[in-house]
Amino acid sequence: MTEESLRRVLDFTTSVTFDIKAYHDDVHRALTGAPVEPVLRNAKYIAENAPERLWEFRVLLIPKITEGEVKPIAEFLSAIDSEIPLNFLAFRPNFVFEDYQGVTREALDRAVEVAREAGLKNVNWSGRADLPGEIFEATASEYDESGAKRAGGIAKRAGCVTLPRDCGSCQAIHQCPSKGYKPGRRT
Ligand code: SF4
Repeated sequence: MTEESLRRVLDFTTSVTFDIKAYHDDVHRALTGAPVEPVLRNAKYIAENAPERLWEFRVLLIPKITEGEVKPIAEFLSAIDSEIPLNFLAFRPNFVFEDYQGVTREALDRAVEVAREAGLKNVNWSGRADLPGEIFEATASEYDESGAKRAGGIAKRAGCVTLPRDCGSCQAIHQCPSKGYKPGRRT
């Protein structure tokens, strides 16, 4: 969302739950196909201008992909306000990640600990931990961070043709092979 759109949405919003998928741009692009800067800018705007409507920020914890994002996200939020609520969601294998391993309880506990060490006071995790699956190799050399290499490799495997991902300017956006991926698993 643009800043203007965010302000207009906040005008009629009573409760906000806000996902931050990653802090590093290449991890964010690998996971979502979009840059992280507008997300962090909007997160900061909400935390500073509508804290009474903020239910929580959420971070999906995916093994070996977003674990390295925990500390920078927690430091980013803590620098705004140490009271900001943060919840780590347990990754559940789904869609192009249908065979990927769920996150362990230990990793979720560790993420909470790291976020508290970064200065946040209201941190929790939720969801179902320890779901079975496989941790894929990091195969997309177009990215810098190891989590991005792994997530980008999964997008590539599902048919993404533009790496690093940038869905906004991708020539294939209307025939995107990865968006037509048909998962075998139903959740
Ligand atoms: S092929 Fe293009 S539209 Fe599809 S996921 Fe990759 S970057 Fe995005």
